[in-house]
Amino acid sequence: MAIAKKGKQIGEETKKKLICISCGCGVQNNFNATKDEYHKFFNKIPYCKDCVKSIYKGYLVKYNGNTNLAIYFTCRKIDIPYIHQAYLAAMKESQNENSVLNGEENLLPIYLKNLAFADKNGWGSSFDDSQGENNIEGLSNYDVYTKIKRPKKVAGELGDDDNYEDIEFSTAYLQSVWGRFDNDDLAYLQNEYMDWESKLGQIDTKDIDIIVRQICYQTLDINKARENGEDVTKKLNALTSLMNNGGLLEKQNRAVQNSKCVGQRIEDIETFRPVKKADPELADVDNVNLLFDAFAGCTARALGKNNKYVEKFEKEFEPWSIDIIEKGKAQLLGTESDEECQSQTKSQSED
Ligand SMILES: [Zn+2]
Repeated sequence: MAIAKKGKQIGEETKKKLICISCGCGVQNNFNATKDEYHKFFNKIPYCKDCVKSIYKGYLVKYNGNTNLAIYFTCRKIDIPYIHQAYLAAMKESQNENSVLNGEENLLPIYLKNLAFADKNGWGSSFDDSQGENNIEGLSNYDVYTKIKRPKKVAGELGDDDNYEDIEFSTAYLQSVWGRFDNDDLAYLQNEYMDWESKLGQIDTKDIDIIVRQICYQTLDINKARENGEDVTKKLNALTSLMNNGGLLEKQNRAVQNSKCVGQRIEDIETFRPVKKADPELADVDNVNLLFDAFAGCTARALGKNNKYVEKFEKEFEPWSIDIIEKGKAQLLGTESDEECQSQTKSQSED
């Protein structure tokens, strides 16, 4: 009984005092309300209003001032719905000079204020209830394609921007290979893997494939930890041991030593940059197609057939031929004015 009584007392005590899970402040009217079932004990967002603001500002910096992305990720962080319609309305209000909350700095407060009507508008109560995320420009998680910038295999001057090319991968494919990462991470992982692949010559055994993949995950992990100012010594050690285990450094050295001959270069290009379709000006450099079309077209025409080869043949030879009957008719009617054609017709009829 005593325990139950004590528990009840603690519950009541705590209920009175929500403490911000980020800064520890306990000013009770400094929290936004939420109707989410999993917040029902306090019915408040457990970050104080100041911390919500600072979360938003952090995302604003991270996404280069993109307010839409900043609002979206703030909603995700504090678990309230992202409603695109509400975002647009908040944007409009912040741009309205007659509004009390005019100014971009009020975008977040307006958005949160509008969410107070979430119930009435059927907007739900948690981030899972979000609507219209696919309208957010630049929200990489939703890009169907992931672009990777790679140095061109056949490059011109060094440092020239043209020496890089974008390769597009289906995001679904990359996620099937790497797991559920966003586009930026997927691009990093795939890029790292391809880099190893080209440095090692090729990755043709399962054990090397597994180790290289783990190395890619590990370097991504290290980069992220570094961005957050964490100590990366342990992660670096793990990376080094992964590389030693796979004997990758020796393999890479060997690949560099047998510096690539033309054949390997071509193999590289065929493996990493297969040409899907030849450039039109390179498609038939020695005119074999033209020769074939001319032969087939000419033969078919002589046999009285009318097919695509005849069409091609006639189109190709049109600039070098004249229609004797038409020209002759024109001459008789006196409408012919082109002297050159006249003389041609003449010489041909003499023949
Ligand atoms: Zn706080």
